[in-house]
Amino acid sequence: MLEGKAALITGSGQGIGLEIATEFAKAGAKVMLNDINEETLNKAIEELKSQGFTVDGVIANVAKEEDVKNAIEKTVESFGRIDILVNNAGIQHVAPVEEFPSEKYSLILDIMLKGPFYGIKYAFPHMKEQGYGRILNMASINGLIGFAGKAGYNSAKHGVIGLTKVTALEGADHGITVNAICPGYVDTPLVQNQLEDIAKTRNIDKEQVLEEVIYPLVPQKRLLQVQEIADYSIFLVSEKAKSITGQAAVIDGGYTVQ
Ligand code: NAD
Repeated sequence: MLEGKAALITGSGQGIGLEIATEFAKAGAKVMLNDINEETLNKAIEELKSQGFTVDGVIANVAKEEDVKNAIEKTVESFGRIDILVNNAGIQHVAPVEEFPSEKYSLILDIMLKGPFYGIKYAFPHMKEQGYGRILNMASINGLIGFAGKAGYNSAKHGVIGLTKVTALEGADHGITVNAICPGYVDTPLVQNQLEDIAKTRNIDKEQVLEEVIYPLVPQKRLLQVQEIADYSIFLVSEKAKSITGQAAVIDGGYTVQ
């Protein structure tokens, strides 16, 4: 479905980003992986190259404008174009607002709101010239509803949905679609760390955290798998979704329906 397309996926050394990179490569795309963590990035590239896929990598901190600009330019230099940008890199911090470190709040916005802004800013000129582009911003159900303790994460995810709508309008007449994906709980290192934190605080094990804390909130009573997010992403960047733009596409096992 993505034969001949060139994609840059931020934060793709592990978790959701790595799965999207893998599925995009399987679908025929040339993929530029990115991460701030050199070790996970190199491991991911090695693994994908060993499977015969056309992939490359760029170390970049998406909180830094110059880094993001370089990542976009490296994608164009390596693959001749940039058809798809997935703004996926993210971090998490949980604390009540009165204890939330202000530097942490700024860092979260820098990575998860300004990072996507930089990406779109520098990808748009190439995409406009091509008359084609697909942008996915990894938002969250935290971009749609409030979660106590997540002042930074919630603000960034709400913000990136606003950025999605604005840039969808700006790209609409140039063959560019911009959408946000809003997953519920997905089984990744980020969520496993969160489960461990809750388990420690409550002095219970991770399985009990799932049964007692998470599943009562999720009608399907399970964690989403990264493959499901990758499948949804492929659809949203495919020709079949060419009329879908500016949307906050929810995939949450029913979490936000209640
Ligand atoms: P993860 O922690 O497993 O992976 C995130 C990756 O981003 C890591 O490889 C990390 O090194 C990288 N990264 C962090 N800061 C970076 C920076 N400044 N520059 C470049 N790379 C950086 O997380 P995940 O669960 O795979 O989450 C990926 C995205 O999906 C995030 O935006 C997250 O908010 C979002 N999301 C996750 C869930 C979930 O349940 N896991 C749900 C909704 C949304």
